[in-house]
Amino acid sequence: MPDDVLLELRRRLHSLPELSGGEAATSALIRDFLKGHQPDRMVEDLGGHGLAAIFRGEKEGPTVLLRCELDAVPVWESDRPHQSTADGVAHACGHDGHMAILCGMARQLAQRRPESGRVVLLFQPAEETGAGAAAVSADPRFADIRPDWAFALHNLPGYPFGQIVMKSGPMACASRGLMAMLGGKPAHAAWPETGCSPALALGRIVTALDGENHTDSKEGFAQATIVHARLGEEVFGTTPAEGVVMATLRSDSEAGMEALVARAREIVQREAEASGLTWAIEWRDIFPATINDKDACDHLQGAAREADVDCRILEEPMRASEDFGHFTSLTPGVLFGLGSGENHPALHTRTYDFPDDLLDVGLRLWRALIDRLLNDRQ
Ligand SMILES: [Zn+2]
Ligand SMILES: [Zn+2]
Repeated sequence: MPDDVLLELRRRLHSLPELSGGEAATSALIRDFLKGHQPDRMVEDLGGHGLAAIFRGEKEGPTVLLRCELDAVPVWESDRPHQSTADGVAHACGHDGHMAILCGMARQLAQRRPESGRVVLLFQPAEETGAGAAAVSADPRFADIRPDWAFALHNLPGYPFGQIVMKSGPMACASRGLMAMLGGKPAHAAWPETGCSPALALGRIVTALDGENHTDSKEGFAQATIVHARLGEEVFGTTPAEGVVMATLRSDSEAGMEALVARAREIVQREAEASGLTWAIEWRDIFPATINDKDACDHLQGAAREADVDCRILEEPMRASEDFGHFTSLTPGVLFGLGSGENHPALHTRTYDFPDDLLDVGLRLWRALIDRLLNDRQ
């Protein structure tokens, strides 16, 4: 069992969830906790409400960044003692647990700094929208803490408790939200031929996008999932003048995503123009692919052995996206899953809660990884 301080911190964070970009109180709470453990330096308001605590070794050496996330998600959670105090917002992705693990690392590092190099504990804002990692890495002050290695864990329901789940190469898919807007001309429903309805084009776009799903072409994995569509108004007397289709595109590589984006754009243009409609596309929630570095994976596996943590190597990347890809595109790194238990409720659902016993596993792993990379224990 983790100690009471971390347990209490995790539950306190859980009770005070904040949505992406609005994590001011969470950031302040973490800052107060960290100040009690004297990091050599803190960087505040990094890419928004982000926070980095730096612990330095005496000797020169590499900088190792460990990342957790500050934000919660828009979910109404079920009853529990450490209930969310914000209506319709909950730590249903377990970021409260990830933060508590890094706070535990701060406490350990205060007692025993690395022998060489630096450890940067990064509390990143706005992971859920894909905006946070990009904002942090674009912040001019990020240059000072730019890492040589970057690591992040994410608890993962559906896998055995405490098991690392990872692979080298593509780990999490790139994803991108497509919003296609079609514009026509309304008519009385008795004389539809006098208007210009987006109805058929909208249907064809939905069908064509759905045809873009494939798993093993030479471009790798590609997926287009229709998530929303809207057409005109809920009336019987008028034909629609506007239509909207929303789809989420995914691919396991940036090249694959570029190709998918180009085809989706072609589909919208072709069908809109064939029906004489105006059209426009907006791209939202853009996540890069997260590509794990081979050497960084080897270090993590070595650390897992030393920490007595089981490791499962995936065959395929995770379909879900993670904005940690912004860091792995800058520096060698690993994003990995840490099993929350095979029957643990899924992420982003109302009964989900971070499993407290995972705090210890995460701490052991990070400790072994820091020992390996910065403490001459190869
Ligand atoms: Zn998450
Ligand atoms: Zn999430």
